[in-house]
Amino acid sequence: MSIVAIVGRPNVGKSTLFNRLIQRREAIVDSVSGVTRDRHYGKSDWNGKEFTLIDTGGYVIGSDDEFEEEIDKQVELAIEEADVIIFMVDVETGITGMDEDVANLLRKAKKPVFLAVNKVDNSKRAGDAVEFYNLGLGEIYTIASTNGSGTGDLLDAVIEKIPDTQEEDDEELPRFAVVGRPNAGKSSFINALIGQDRFVVTDIAGTTRDSIDTKYNRFGFDFKLVDTAGIRRKSKVKEDLEFYSVMRSIRAIEHADVCLLVLDATRGFDGQVQNIFWLAQRNRKGVVILVNKWDLVEKDNHSTKEFERMIRKECEPFTDVPIIFISALTKQRIFKAIETAVEVYKNRSKRIPTSKLNDILLPIIENRPPPAYKGKYVKIKFITQLPTKQPQFAFFCNLPQYVKEPYKRFLENQLREHFDFHGVPIDVYMRKK
Ligand code: GDP
Ligand code: GDP
Repeated sequence: MSIVAIVGRPNVGKSTLFNRLIQRREAIVDSVSGVTRDRHYGKSDWNGKEFTLIDTGGYVIGSDDEFEEEIDKQVELAIEEADVIIFMVDVETGITGMDEDVANLLRKAKKPVFLAVNKVDNSKRAGDAVEFYNLGLGEIYTIASTNGSGTGDLLDAVIEKIPDTQEEDDEELPRFAVVGRPNAGKSSFINALIGQDRFVVTDIAGTTRDSIDTKYNRFGFDFKLVDTAGIRRKSKVKEDLEFYSVMRSIRAIEHADVCLLVLDATRGFDGQVQNIFWLAQRNRKGVVILVNKWDLVEKDNHSTKEFERMIRKECEPFTDVPIIFISALTKQRIFKAIETAVEVYKNRSKRIPTSKLNDILLPIIENRPPPAYKGKYVKIKFITQLPTKQPQFAFFCNLPQYVKEPYKRFLENQLREHFDFHGVPIDVYMRKK
C-alpha cells in the first residue's frame, strides 16, 4: 500500500483535506506525548486505488524558529517515508518564507510532489493562485478543502503515481510480520528466531525501502518474515522514531498474513500498541500477541492470568487472540510463538464446507433467531463462506437490513465457538435471499 503524505505549514487546511478524504472513524491519531502535535493516519481510495494518507502535522506552539524546525522535520519524514507528497499552500496568505523553505526541500526530493493551492473558493482566488508557480514545483492544483472542489483532479494526478495493487505472491507460504513499538524487542525476537545477528545499521537518507520477504525454515516450519523491524535507519530525527515505526508497521502489516505484535511486558498495552493492533485488525490480518521481556517481570501464580485479562480488555471487541509470554533474551517460548503464528495462518485460510456450516449453525439460529424488528421477523435460511482470502461469511435471509450489530456479534461468536478462528478477524454479512 502506498503512502501519501500531506505537508505544509499550519492552517493551510491540511487536516480539512485529510478529513474529507478518509472515512473519519477509520483514522488513528498518534499523539506524541509532551509534544504539541498530532498525526493522523487513515485509508483512502480513489478510482479503486487504495492508499494510506498521512496528515503529517498539526500545530506547534512556540517561536517562529521552532515552527520552522518542526515543519522541516515533517517534510524530511515525508520525503523519506512517503511515496507521494501533497504540498499544501494557502492562497489567502500567498507565498510565505516557510513555503519557500519547504519548496526548497521538496525540489531536491526524488519523490513525486503535487502542489495543492488551497482555499481557492472563488474565481478571484483562482487568479491569485498562479503566484505559486514561482515556487518552482511545476503544475499547481487549485482546490478548496472545505467543499472538495478541485480535489478530484489532484487525486487523479496522485494515483497515477501509485502502483497498482501488488501482485499476489504465488508461493503459499505464511507471511509473518513482526510489529510493535520501538524497543519492544522486535529485532531481538527475530535474531533469537533466526539465530544470527543480521541487522546492520544503514544510513542512507532519502531511500524508502519496502518490506522484504525472506524465506525461513525454523523449528520445522516454512514461513516468510516480512522484515521491516530489522531496517535500522539512523534517523536524522531521533524523536520521530515512533512515527517511523508506525509507518513501517503500516507497510509490514499490509504485506503479511499474520502479525506478531511484540509488546514490552514492562510497559504494557498502551495507546501505540493499540494503534498497531487496530491496523492489523482493520487490514484483516491474523494476530498473535507476544508479551516480550517476560523475564523482567516479577511473577507469582496469577501474573500471567492477570496480564492476559488486562490485554484482552484492551483488544475488545476482537478478543479471540492468542497471547504468549516470551523472552527474546532467554529464548523462552519463541518456538511456541512461531507455532502459534502458523496455527493462526491456518485458521485464516480455513474453509468451512457449506453443509457443515448450515448443519451446525442453523439449529442454533432457530433456537435464538434475530429479534423481531418493527414487528417483522427475520428468517436466516442459508449460510456460506465467501471465497475470500480471509474468513467472511454470508448469512442469507429475508430482511438483512433488520439484523443489528449485537446479533451479528452473536453469530460471529458462534462461528468462533464451533470452528477455530483463534487470532483471525472475521466478517459477518447479512445478504438478501
Ligand atoms: P492545517 O493546520 O493545515 O491542518 O489546517 P486546517 O485544516 O486546520 O484549516 C485551517 C483553517 O483553514 C480552518 O479554519 C479551515 O476551516 C480553513 N480552511 C481549510 N480549507 C479551506 C478552504 O478550502 N477554504 C477556506 N475558505 N477555508 C479553508
Ligand atoms: P526493537 O526496537 O523492537 O527491535 O527492540 P530491540 O530488539 O532492539 O530491543 C530493545 C531493548 O530491549 C534491547 O536493549 C534488548 O536487549 C532488550 N530486550 C529485547 N528483548 C528482551 C527480553 O526478552 N528480555 C530483556 N530483559 N530484554 C530484552
